[in-house]
Amino acid sequence: MNELSLTSGLLALSLGLIVGSFVNVLIHRLPRMVMQAHEAAPESGAGLDIYQPASHCPNCLTPLRAWHLLPLLSYVWLKGRCSFCQHPIGMIYPLIETVTGLLWLACAWRWGLTPSALSWACFATCLLALSVIDWQTTLLPDALTLTLLWMGLIASSMRWIALPLDQAVWGAAIGYISLWLVAFVFEKIAHQEGMGAGDFKLLAALGAWLGPVSLIPLVFLASVSGALVGIALKTKGQLHQGRYVPFGPFLAIAAGLLVVLGPHSAHQWLNG
Ligand SMILES: [Zn+2]
Repeated sequence: MNELSLTSGLLALSLGLIVGSFVNVLIHRLPRMVMQAHEAAPESGAGLDIYQPASHCPNCLTPLRAWHLLPLLSYVWLKGRCSFCQHPIGMIYPLIETVTGLLWLACAWRWGLTPSALSWACFATCLLALSVIDWQTTLLPDALTLTLLWMGLIASSMRWIALPLDQAVWGAAIGYISLWLVAFVFEKIAHQEGMGAGDFKLLAALGAWLGPVSLIPLVFLASVSGALVGIALKTKGQLHQGRYVPFGPFLAIAAGLLVVLGPHSAHQWLNG
């Protein structure tokens, strides 16, 4: 177990909070960018990317001042309201920042201030953004899934994560092909689309981080928990006919559980 000094802990937490406010931007803008790219309408496609236009209040559209962008602090300072039009700011923003901050702190606590901690912090951050986007829009943008895949292969080749590179490559390949195969067979039998290509890419990315063997408990945990939540939503009447529960958040949660509780990982956590 690593001894984490107060300074290092505060550093990791602050970095996480700052990254968290960027995650908010991704969650808000990436799905819109994907939709625009699909529609390919030049007039509506103009002007939106990750950096442009500057962050603004979604209600009164006034651009935010620099100090409004301070993660968490500005939310508390403004008492959760836009300082121009007093429109309430969604709780999701400070929540995402806090969760990201805590994830970064947990990684620093587990791995110290090392490239390993940074790797797993990026892994967790990507999965958080993907989960929220998939839950809200049923989209898993390539910008995040493919980045996560490449990061896993690079982290493995640099030995920042314990998984050997050949296992990372096979994990990615088998992750993609296995879900593609399931979806292909399902489509032939049920004549409807059960999963999107985004799910294949996400499982490929998780395979690159966790290896081919972890794919079995990963898909099992995600399917069972996803099905339970689907049934719960259906009995409550919150899941409408023809809609389905996105698979991404359940894959992400299962992956997080495997990192923390997996047989190999549990040993690492306890023995440093
Ligand atoms: Zn406003």
